[in-house]
Amino acid sequence: MHIVQPGMEIDVLKENNRIANENYRLMKSHGIRSVDFMGSIGAGKTALIIKLAEKLRAKGVRVCAIAGDVTGADDYGRFEKSGLEAVNCNTGHECHLDANLVRKSLSKIDLDRYDVVFIENVGNLVCPADFPLGTDYRVVVISTTEGDDMVRKHHDIFLHSDIAILNKMDIADAVGVDPEVIAEDYRKLTGGLKSIYRCSARKDEGIDEILVALGM
Ligand code: MG
Repeated sequence: MHIVQPGMEIDVLKENNRIANENYRLMKSHGIRSVDFMGSIGAGKTALIIKLAEKLRAKGVRVCAIAGDVTGADDYGRFEKSGLEAVNCNTGHECHLDANLVRKSLSKIDLDRYDVVFIENVGNLVCPADFPLGTDYRVVVISTTEGDDMVRKHHDIFLHSDIAILNKMDIADAVGVDPEVIAEDYRKLTGGLKSIYRCSARKDEGIDEILVALGM
């Protein structure tokens, strides 16, 4: 039986935030800009990161990635195959990366060799919300294949993100999803202040706009 002491959860989050601040300062001291990509399994995080990194590398920006997964090295393998240097980071059984795991991954990277670090979080739309990693940006990626109710079902992760992206726009019709519904839900959730970015990582559509949003 797993017993949680009163107040323990708070301490875990506090400690995570403390280490996240250290990660942030460490990356800044090496002039690195960083992004945490959150989203469900199958949202297209890996493909999007590969596409963003390709475009940045073509401009001479030095990019590396941290591939967060519960187990295995599938995303890490895809990064390396695309020419994106990466570090694999398995959580073992946790459904999210935390700042301490990212700190360990950063210690394996020669930070002076890079300008940008992309972190792919574990495929999950709930748990990563509470665990900032110390990145400049937190991005949530959803796809049209997940249905039109993702914003309505997962307020927290959208409210904890700087940027929201709707991927797989090219197959919205085929899966019977109206992107306008998702866009309107997101506008409402953010008080009319923010729009969701629409893209297709596969078709290379909408990627440049995301780079601009990330200040890259
Ligand atoms: Mg992936």
